Amino acid sequence: MQNTIKTSISFTGTGLHSGKPATLVIKPAPAGHGVKFLRVDIALGDAVVPARWDAVEQTQLCTKILNASGVSVSTIEHIMAALAGCGIHNALVEIDGPEVPILDGSAEPFVRKILETGLRKLEEPIWALKILREVSVKRGDAWARLSPADEMKIDFSIDFTDEAIGRQHKTLNMANGSFVRELCDSRTFCRQSDVDAMREQGLALGGTLENAVVVEGDKVLSPGGLRHEDEAVRHKMLDALGDLALAGAPILGIYTGSRAGHAMTNALLRELFDTEGAYCFVRCTPGIAARLPGAGVHLGELPEVA
Ligand SMILES: [Zn+2]
Repeated sequence: MQNTIKTSISFTGTGLHSGKPATLVIKPAPAGHGVKFLRVDIALGDAVVPARWDAVEQTQLCTKILNASGVSVSTIEHIMAALAGCGIHNALVEIDGPEVPILDGSAEPFVRKILETGLRKLEEPIWALKILREVSVKRGDAWARLSPADEMKIDFSIDFTDEAIGRQHKTLNMANGSFVRELCDSRTFCRQSDVDAMREQGLALGGTLENAVVVEGDKVLSPGGLRHEDEAVRHKMLDALGDLALAGAPILGIYTGSRAGHAMTNALLRELFDTEGAYCFVRCTPGIAARLPGAGVHLGELPEVA
């Protein structure tokens, strides 16, 4: 059965790139609603922005969605991962600013409050997006692929010259609460030298050593160091789950990403929906639903974070 959140929960914080403060409220929504954002600070025109692949504006550093009236919400990937990873299919996310608060740079604060509040079951079956044929996209030495499977897996590889990150690879079946146990507390990361370049372009204005893992060479500059030795690849998997949630339905298939980012995962979804015979929607039996992200999540399995 589809889920929504039991009661409204709110978060206040600063946007990573805009540096602007915002309060965000996740509200329950009926079956079939999906996830939609509502800019409550915009009085004129259509302020609803659907969290869908075809509403994504091409960006490198975060996932930004935009409606026909030009109303946008930025950096939605971590809250989208939290909703998908906790098995929430329907929610209205009200926000009074242009960017989702970055909080600690991971999805853990969203996941903790969602699981403390709990889910409400709705009287409609889940429809999953089943991959029938392999689709892939490639740009330079980065690529991403969706291939058929009866479960959802994410497989990710990164290769950074900085020794503090280096080469990392991880693969994970997303059922049985693995998102909550293994991915949700991993934070966004960047190089100190990139921070300086981003600031010059008016980005990362809200970035601090507390809401991102900042590295330079073999050093982790953020106090407290890493939450996991391979925190960087885990965060890329978190981002991938959030970006794939913009398909509008949980995916039955394997996502493989190598040096991929937000723009590439969105290009992959566009390729999927453009390819005839590459997918179908299946009505989930309880057996299929048990293999989707969100199945078997427990608050008690959430890692303790400093
Ligand atoms: Zn991220």
